[in-house]
Amino acid sequence: METILFLAHTEADGSLGKPALEALAAAQSLGGTLVAGLIGEKVQPAADQIATSGATKFLGVSGTDFASSRYATDAAAAEALCRAAQATVVVAAGTSRFMRCLPGVAQRLGGRVDTHVTGLTTNGGNVTINRWFYRQRMEAAIQRAPRPWFIVVDPGSQPAWQGAAGQASVEAVAIALADSARRTTVTGIRAPQADAQTIRPDAALLFVTGAGWTKKQADGQTHVPEAEKLIRDFLHLSRASLGSSKSLVDLGGEGQAVLSFLSHLNQVGQTGSTPRHPKGLSTCCHGEEPHTVGWRFIGERRAISLDPNCGWARGKADVLYVADAFAVMRKVNELLVQGV
Ligand SMILES: Cc1cc2nc3c(=O)[nH]c(=O)nc-3n(C[C@H](O)[C@H](O)[C@H](O)COP(=O)(O)OP(=O)(O)OC[C@H]3O[C@@H](n4cnc5c(N)ncnc54)[C@H](O)[C@@H]3O)c2cc1C
Repeated sequence: METILFLAHTEADGSLGKPALEALAAAQSLGGTLVAGLIGEKVQPAADQIATSGATKFLGVSGTDFASSRYATDAAAAEALCRAAQATVVVAAGTSRFMRCLPGVAQRLGGRVDTHVTGLTTNGGNVTINRWFYRQRMEAAIQRAPRPWFIVVDPGSQPAWQGAAGQASVEAVAIALADSARRTTVTGIRAPQADAQTIRPDAALLFVTGAGWTKKQADGQTHVPEAEKLIRDFLHLSRASLGSSKSLVDLGGEGQAVLSFLSHLNQVGQTGSTPRHPKGLSTCCHGEEPHTVGWRFIGERRAISLDPNCGWARGKADVLYVADAFAVMRKVNELLVQGV
């Protein structure tokens, strides 16, 4: 039987975030002996948060050295927790903090690591994971013999663990850190204002903008300022996450008039991101394969395009509105303001 270590780092407030709770549910689903390994400035609140998860042990590495993301200290902590738990399988969330250090930890322990895992199952004690390759075109089911096996789960791909908090008894795992492990320090965090942050992974809707917003319209003119306002208002009213086609984000780099709040981080598709939202609405975008391949995990897909022969019409969308997106979004915003 596998010894499964659920490995997590705390968030700034000391709790476990949604990606960690998703990894916990995935770890639990494998059966086996579950051990929780927690890293953070303080880990007791996090242990209490998941006290009823069925973990047989709560191991912790804590202290100011482990408050922020840092390769040297995170890798040392994860390695010590894996050894203390004698883990054969390690399940962790694919946060930027863990994506940076866990492959190195697997190497130190002579194990193996798989990242971007989107499915975990067990059959007769054999663990199988799923992940996508070639920009979500091919799905693989993978089993591995070497241990420990690090399974790093893509955030948003699993239901989050839900359960009552309680009181957990944390066993501290001590680490002797070399001074060299403390060389890197976090001096501050620069983040956009909450309202300027247009990428919202937890939003119910993905709103995609295409290059059509900047093209000449029926009157022979472009209407970029109006497009900006319509899109901004919609995002503000709906709290949707903003995605874009490559053509539109590239236009900015070429010095053309373009929506000021878009960057390459918004790009969805083969050379962009593959977000996960229950619903998606594409506007002024042609729906070509390199773009729509990024919609693999969007539940319900709708698109507004003037072109009845666009890619969305060829099986890429559940519903295509052949209409002027300026007119449609103007009306949608009006209805949202009225609270309809
Ligand atoms: C190797 C490679 C990788 C790529 N990776 C990506 C990727 O990751 N993501 C990506 O998006 N693309 C990617 N592309 C580019 C992709 O093939 C398309 O060129 C791009 O998605 C087109 O963007 P678009 O649909 O916004 O623009 P366009 O093709 O210019 O389409 C604009 C659409 O807007 C419509 N329109 C105009 N005005 C209105 C209006 N008022 N109302 C409604 N509709 C209107 C037009 O009818 C048209 O259909 C890649 C290409 C290659 C070769």
